[in-house]
Amino acid sequence: MSLLLEQEFADWQGAHYCLAVASGGQALQLALRALGVKHGDPVLTNAFTLAPVPGAIRAVGGDPVLVEVTENLVIDLDHLDAMAQRSAASILLVSHMRGHLVDMDRLTERAANIGLTVIEDCAHTMGATWRGMKSGNFGKVGCFSTQSYKHLNSGEGGFLATDDPALMARMVMLSGSYMNFERHGAAPGAAWFADARFDCPNLSARMDALRAAILRPQLKQLDQSIKAWNTRYARLADALTPLSCVTLPRPLKEAQRVGSSLQFRTPDFSAKACVQLLEEMGNHGVELKWFGCPEPLGFTSSHHHWRYLTSGDLPRTDEILRTLFDMRLPLSFSEEDCVHLGKVMRDVLLSLASRHAT
Ligand SMILES: *Cc1c(COP(=O)(O)O)cnc(C)c1O
Repeated sequence: MSLLLEQEFADWQGAHYCLAVASGGQALQLALRALGVKHGDPVLTNAFTLAPVPGAIRAVGGDPVLVEVTENLVIDLDHLDAMAQRSAASILLVSHMRGHLVDMDRLTERAANIGLTVIEDCAHTMGATWRGMKSGNFGKVGCFSTQSYKHLNSGEGGFLATDDPALMARMVMLSGSYMNFERHGAAPGAAWFADARFDCPNLSARMDALRAAILRPQLKQLDQSIKAWNTRYARLADALTPLSCVTLPRPLKEAQRVGSSLQFRTPDFSAKACVQLLEEMGNHGVELKWFGCPEPLGFTSSHHHWRYLTSGDLPRTDEILRTLFDMRLPLSFSEEDCVHLGKVMRDVLLSLASRHAT
């Protein structure tokens, strides 16, 4: 069952090989291990991401080296250069957080120049493209999540996608195949396993057939769902873009995002005004997350909450997170719901901004 799912996902993604695994976090860990990350090795990643990303680096013994993000919520390529040089890292785990794609041409070129191998965290970019090419096909390996809040939902789960047969063989063996690798649906031939089957420890991170069965029909619907997310996102962006108190991330023209969530900033708001915004939106039934919250509530995306690593000074990221808000756009919202939601949000924002200005 996961065998058919792996074939179908590889086809949909346009990758040679695909492995279905227990979670997105496990996908990241397997990719890092298969690329040889060892205890104490520095691994670069962007500072605005979700806890499973620095968590995966730490789980394999690596040292997360955080890189600043820009106003468009993507990795800052100049800071990447600086941190790559300072840390002498050879791996970049770029997290396309909330679906925002950095200039992938520049990223790929810079990574090649500095000698960085790129792993893509596509937890929020399943189906997103850059110049028509799917996110996850730019780096050495793409990592996906099928946790409840992602574009495919099996409760927990994930995928690895790559074109590299040797890497794929190692990831299959690491995930635990009980030596049944020849029965895998989207893996390279047995010759590629000659060493991997003896060299790689079994970490038991497979996806089970039950979850694969839940995902196969969803995958058939995915292109449809992506269109539906994008029309819903467009209605909200229509309402919020004209407001002078609000800044939305601006996608580059080559990027086609999946609008499964909305982020906006209120750069002139104080922390007090941000708390008020959360409250007043909540009173109207609009549930927002605030990345500037001093407490990790319901999720963690602030490097200040990851005490197991030394993040260094990240003033640019801190300034952005300070007034950054976030909302998921479940497909149970209709397009009309989103028009209504946009009006409610606009009114609350305008009212707060005018009170704040006086
Ligand atoms: C969900 C998520 C992951 C993977 O999470 P799992 O819960 O382990 O599937 C990785 N990165 C980001 C940015 C995520 O949101």
